[in-house]
Amino acid sequence: MLEISNLSKAYPTPRGELPVLRDVSLSLQRGESASIMGPSGSGKSTLLYIIGALEPPSSGRVIIGGDDPFALGPKALAAFRNRAVGFVFQDHLLLPQCTVVENVLLPTLVGEPLADGRARALDLLGRVGLSDRLDHRPAELSGGEKQRVAIARALIRQPPIVLCDEPTGNLDRESAEAVASLLLELHREQKSVLAVVTHSPTLADRFGRRLELNEQRLAPRRMAS
Ligand code: ADP
Ligand code: MG
Repeated sequence: MLEISNLSKAYPTPRGELPVLRDVSLSLQRGESASIMGPSGSGKSTLLYIIGALEPPSSGRVIIGGDDPFALGPKALAAFRNRAVGFVFQDHLLLPQCTVVENVLLPTLVGEPLADGRARALDLLGRVGLSDRLDHRPAELSGGEKQRVAIARALIRQPPIVLCDEPTGNLDRESAEAVASLLLELHREQKSVLAVVTHSPTLADRFGRRLELNEQRLAPRRMAS
């Protein structure tokens, strides 16, 4: 499903290239989940952006569902992302002027029409426990609630790949665990690939594969002794 090989990434800066990832390989099959830990600035978000076809690698290959998204033109690439990747950003990125249900429906406003979009949005919002908040604006929700809306939005098109960048970073422990449980439950139902960046070892341990970025390399996480 997801195959990245010998991936490297460097950002151009005024003082020359900043190497971030070096020779990173990872393959995740349908139904697999992985957590990615690593110090701040180690390239976790960069890796997730590349896996989600939001940012091209400097070298190496990214194959998602048998296709190389970066071989596509800009329009086809945008359509591909919309169809194949659900992204939960650390800062939920909900539109403040839209209601909860409108935010969840955003990905259905572009690309292929989704016939049962509203029914699916209501179902997902029920799953994340927000059935009674459909017409609220993001400002009326707590951090955990906003994050649950962002999860429903990421899943509206049932993408085969779900990527979350510190989805529980701003939440207290109880909300963080609830959000993680929800992500895992929906992941098991949909048999998607799920990759989650987190700073919490407790959360990281709940995912099938436990990975760590360190000094530009991705490796299985060393367990604390
Ligand atoms: P993490 O998510 O692990 O904190 P990031 O992937 O955000 O790390 O960043 C890795 C490194 O790349 C950092 O040193 C960061 O400053 C740098 N970086 C991230 N995005 C850019 C960019 N667009 N241009 C230049 N440098 C960047
Ligand atoms: Mg980051």
